[in-house]
Amino acid sequence: MPVAWVRPERVSPPTGERKLKVLYVAPEVAPYRKTGGLADVAGVLPRAVRQRGVDIRVVMPLYQGIDWHSLERLEGTLGVPMYFGQARASVRLGRLPGSDLPVYFIEYNRFFDRPHLYGPPGQAYSDNLERFSFLSRAALELCKTIGFFPDVIHANDWQTALVPVYVNTVEWARPMHGAGTLFTIHNLAYQGNFESGAMFITGLGWEHYNSSEFEHFGDMNLMKAGIRHANLLSTVSPTYAREIQTSAYGFGLDGELALRGRDLRGVLNGIDAHAWDPEHDPHIAAPYGARDIAGKAVCKAALQQQLGLPVRPNVPIFGVVGRLTAQKGFDVLAHALEHILSWDVQIVLLGKGDHEAEHFFGYVASRRGEKMRAYIAFDEGLAHRIEAGSDFLLMPSRYEPCGLTQMYSQRYGTLPIVRGTGGLLDTVSNYNQANGEGTGFIFWDLTPGALADTVGWALSTYHDRPEHILAMRKRAMEQDFSWDRAAVAHEHLYREAYRIRRGHEFGAR
Ligand code: ADP
Repeated sequence: MPVAWVRPERVSPPTGERKLKVLYVAPEVAPYRKTGGLADVAGVLPRAVRQRGVDIRVVMPLYQGIDWHSLERLEGTLGVPMYFGQARASVRLGRLPGSDLPVYFIEYNRFFDRPHLYGPPGQAYSDNLERFSFLSRAALELCKTIGFFPDVIHANDWQTALVPVYVNTVEWARPMHGAGTLFTIHNLAYQGNFESGAMFITGLGWEHYNSSEFEHFGDMNLMKAGIRHANLLSTVSPTYAREIQTSAYGFGLDGELALRGRDLRGVLNGIDAHAWDPEHDPHIAAPYGARDIAGKAVCKAALQQQLGLPVRPNVPIFGVVGRLTAQKGFDVLAHALEHILSWDVQIVLLGKGDHEAEHFFGYVASRRGEKMRAYIAFDEGLAHRIEAGSDFLLMPSRYEPCGLTQMYSQRYGTLPIVRGTGGLLDTVSNYNQANGEGTGFIFWDLTPGALADTVGWALSTYHDRPEHILAMRKRAMEQDFSWDRAAVAHEHLYREAYRIRRGHEFGAR
């Protein structure tokens, strides 16, 4: 039995309209710990949803590096049923910065007091199944222990895919069973695959190891089970929602997703419009906006100077920020690099990832120092300076569920050059040479030739039709990528998940 908190929280107000209650479970949340876009989403979306009057609360692990001194330690301990017995965790409570939104940190050092979130670069911790079964189970136990019974639980990616499964199984006929479940796929490539023999670690019986739930090509697959069990599914852009139902993008789960196609929604992510605002960005050399873009030239010169590149206003800078992985198409960029560097351009790359890519780009930059700089690091400030100081941003993604970087770049008047896939297609409109419309440049074939041609197209537009470039910059900066739209859409998803679960509208009884 979980130990009750000494001060249980009051759940619903005794009178008046009841608020929709949502538990948001995520393996990473910015600004606490981040490896990718999911953390950005988890750090902002709940805040925007809460502003709409939804009582949404976040749960995540207390990882090493999180400033636990600033968090309130809740009294008592949380009992989490695990295959090895009852694990006893602590819970710390914080507030998402700039809001009163509660974030519950599950403190269990055996699993989470480690330098990396999922494993050292290129590797996975061997006990990840235990770690994230634990997180999923702990999130549900937490609700019961503090008396917060959500109407809907929102789980994200494979690390929390067990949450909707547990709601349907171990919580059967118990209070949490009434919660509707929404499962969001941020990146289908990471599915949580484990050997079938590890099934016992989930605490679920062998009967769930079947081709409709966990079994997938002879292994167990957490994402597949989450897809089967959640009431409603979503992903982070409308195009990606369609793509993942095809074998080209489905990573083997396209059949599952097509089966549930009627329950799969695509909602475009927003961006943190405060953190990424060229008018008030402490990281950049000069503020600027769509109405007065002069500061962008100052940012460009500062970037060239800081990085030791020739300070030349009329040579375009192509920025690259992102994980150096096959997903991002960096292998294709590598093959196009010599061609692109044969022109009068500058390239600034910031990224970490595959060792081969890190070495390759570092090597080319060391040989072509007058034209290229490569920073193999994770550097938030430099990411902002590159977005502000560059003329174009390269994003030749092989697949892209949503992508944030191309939205940031548009906000900073830096025109994205992207492959036509996933969220890139939903957020960038292609340049029309006839009338100057568009907010970026799109290419379709993932080949070095197509990429280089499109860079060449951008380069010639930069020199031959500067008025088009200026108009595109302003148009890009005026796009609305704020979270308000996505928050409205998520509130609808939550109500829909509730309706599917309960068979009636929220508030109707
Ligand atoms: P993904 O989630 O696939 O990595 P997104 O474009 O959705 O791609 O989000 C990437 C996020 O990580 C952005 O906020 C981007 O600025 C940031 N980022 C990626 N690599 C770096 C890096 N090396 N330094 C700083 N920020 C980075």
